[in-house]
Formats: sequence, C-alpha cells, structure tokens
Amino acid sequence: MKILVLNCGSSSLKYQLFDMDNEEVLAKGLCERIAIDGSILKHSPTGKEKFELKTPMKDHNDAIAAVVDALLDKTHGVISDISEVNAVGHRVVHGGEAFTKSVIIDGAVKKAISECAQIAPLHNPPNLMGIEACERLMKNTPQTAVFDTAFHQTMPPKAYLYAIPYELYDKHKVRKYGFHGTSHKYVSERAAAVLGKPLESLKIITCHLGNGASVCAVDGGKSVDTSMGFTPLEGLVMGTRSGDIDPAVVSFIMEKEGKTAKEVENMLNKQSGVLGVSGVSSDFRDIEDAERGGNNRAKLALEGFYYRVAKYAGAYAAAMNGADAFVFTAGLGENSASARAAICGYLGFLGLKIDADKNSVRGREIDFAAADSKARALVIPTNEELVIARDTKALV
Ligand code: AMP
Repeated sequence: MKILVLNCGSSSLKYQLFDMDNEEVLAKGLCERIAIDGSILKHSPTGKEKFELKTPMKDHNDAIAAVVDALLDKTHGVISDISEVNAVGHRVVHGGEAFTKSVIIDGAVKKAISECAQIAPLHNPPNLMGIEACERLMKNTPQTAVFDTAFHQTMPPKAYLYAIPYELYDKHKVRKYGFHGTSHKYVSERAAAVLGKPLESLKIITCHLGNGASVCAVDGGKSVDTSMGFTPLEGLVMGTRSGDIDPAVVSFIMEKEGKTAKEVENMLNKQSGVLGVSGVSSDFRDIEDAERGGNNRAKLALEGFYYRVAKYAGAYAAAMNGADAFVFTAGLGENSASARAAICGYLGFLGLKIDADKNSVRGREIDFAAADSKARALVIPTNEELVIARDTKALV
C-alpha cells in the first residue's frame, strides 16, 4: 500500500510518499513560495538524484499537480501511475474539540475543519486547500486528516480551561488545545518500547524542542497537560515565539509603540523567542555558535530557553505526581547534547542523573540516563509523517 503524506502551509507544502508494506520512504520533497513569485519544487526520490523545478504555482492545486508530476516523472519519479497511491494523509493543525483521533475525510469533516479555521486562521485554510486540491486531482483516492490537537483532547478541564469568564469558553471555545500531538504521541509510545515497559504504567514528560517547541505530560499514554495553548504561542520560549508572557504586556506595548493588537501578536509570534532575546537568529545552531563566541545575549536566550523547559518539566512532574522518563525530540532535542544536559541539570530533584557519554549521541534512540538514575532520560527522533501514514493505513 502506497500512502502520500501532505503537510500544507500557507505558502509551502511538504510531502512524503511511503510504501507501507515496509514503511519505506519512496520520495519526499517540498514546494515553496506557493502563490508567490519564484515558486519552486524540491524533489528527493530515494536512491535517485534529487531535482528542483522552478514553475509557477498560483495555488495549492498547482503545487499538488507539480508533486504528482514529479512522482510520475520518467527520470525522477517513483511510480508509473497515480492510481498506485492508495490514500492521502493530511496533517491538519487544528481539530478543535471535534476530533479526538484521525479520520477519513468527508463533507462533514471538511465542514468541521473549516469551522476550526476561526481559531486557527493561519493553519486550517491551507490544510483545507490541500484537501480540496487532492479531491480534484485524485478523485477516487481516500483522504484522511491527522490532527495536531487530537492527542491532547484527553486533557482534563482543570488543565485546559483558562481562568477567564466561562462564557468565553461556551461562546468562542477559548481554551487550551495543545499542538505537536502527533509527535508527543509517537515519542511517548517509542519511549515505552525502548524502556520495555507498558505505556499504561508510565508517567512520561515529552519535550518537543525544535523551532516550535512544547512539553507534554503523558500519563499512562494519555496527554494530561501540554504547554502550547489556544494557539501555538503559549508555553516555552521558541525560535521566534515568546511563549508565556504577562497578557498585560500586549496592551502596554500597543500603547507605548503605537501598534495594533494584530501587530503585537505578530511580533510575539515572529520576532520574539530566542531570536528576540539574542538578536542573532531563530536557529539554535547559530545561537549556540554565538554563545561559544562570547555573545552575552545569545547566552541569555539559551539560558531562558532551558530554564522554561525545566520549569514546565517540573510542573508536569507535579501534575502527574512523578515522572518515570523525560523524552527529548525534534531538531534541538534530538541533536543538542548541551541543551539536554542543561535542562536535565535542573531535574536532579526528581532523581534524574545523566550519563555524559551516552548524552553525546545524536539523532538516534537512546536512554542516556545514568545507571543509578531514578528517572530515565531518552532521545527519541520524532517522525510525524510516519504516524500520519500509519494512521491513514489503519483507516483505509
Ligand atoms: P525542527 O523545527 O524540529 O526542524 O528543529 C529546528 C531547530 O533545531 C533549529 O533551531 C536548529 O538549529 C535546531 N538544530 C538542528 N540540529 C541541531 C544541532 N546539531 N545542534 C543544535 N541545534 C540543532
């Protein structure tokens, strides 16, 4: 069975084609600058030469048509007929309260995704454009939606309700939803497998530390709390997002800087986080380099980032009355030994001790806790596309 996984952003589209008989990636790639001048497709077929194609893409329809052409191409392609694709799995960012798991897409599902666009105006509309483009281009191929929010629908009200007038939850569904659910689910399941223990018996704190970052408390395999909120802006300090701040800062900056609410929100999403503090970059590698070179603001940015992750991890140990394992994933979590060491350094009070040699490993599954540590610490590379492909296979 071949499954195409699509992740449609507002001006980009990432794809992977899986052969699910052996979970092998046949090809992957991305389209950039959709609906902007200079659209480009970058296609990487497994075992064949990569290729790039500059071609106008005025919308997601054109982008998906370009992906289909690349998959069928005589030289760079990996299939000979589009009917070989048995199903398409879409990453959908926001499922609101409507979706607790992945689903086959039909009219009612599309309507619900479109309703959630009110609370995810940046993410759900392009997701829907991708779905509708596939409906046009691959008429009889079943499609599924795999939601970033679904895994967190098990959170209890005490975790997801904000302490604002309850009517705002009733009327507008203002509450914590959480994101990165596919990743937190996958790495917590893999952690249980690596530890050789039933997931149901474990309290796991998963730290997804990439450009976007979130922590999740996974109790017995269920998300009971997570750091992102109504939008991905809440929680950790991120590449360009501020994470938690006093909400009164928003109106203060509006007044002092003469900005609109949207402009401040944009600043908190795009010009803040480690970029805002360091003034160097949103990329952790650049900031680590600058810190090694003696840049004090880079040092402040990293220290603030590590501190916030550790605070959430400590809070979630309290939420679950303990923590058996801490899991690190995504770009920084998988690759930066110094970040993991700094964060774990705060967690000794929970019985965590790391083995520095094992922590020097990069990008593969490992338990890097010391032999006599009470809690375990693991690196688990995330694989959101594979989860989407597996869910899609199970559904169709
Ligand atoms: P992601 O959003 O998961 O792709 O993660 C991207 C982030 O991971 C970027 O800020 C990268 O700088 C960071 N990252 C990737 N590799 C490394 C590395 N070897 N050391 C430190 N940070 C890294």
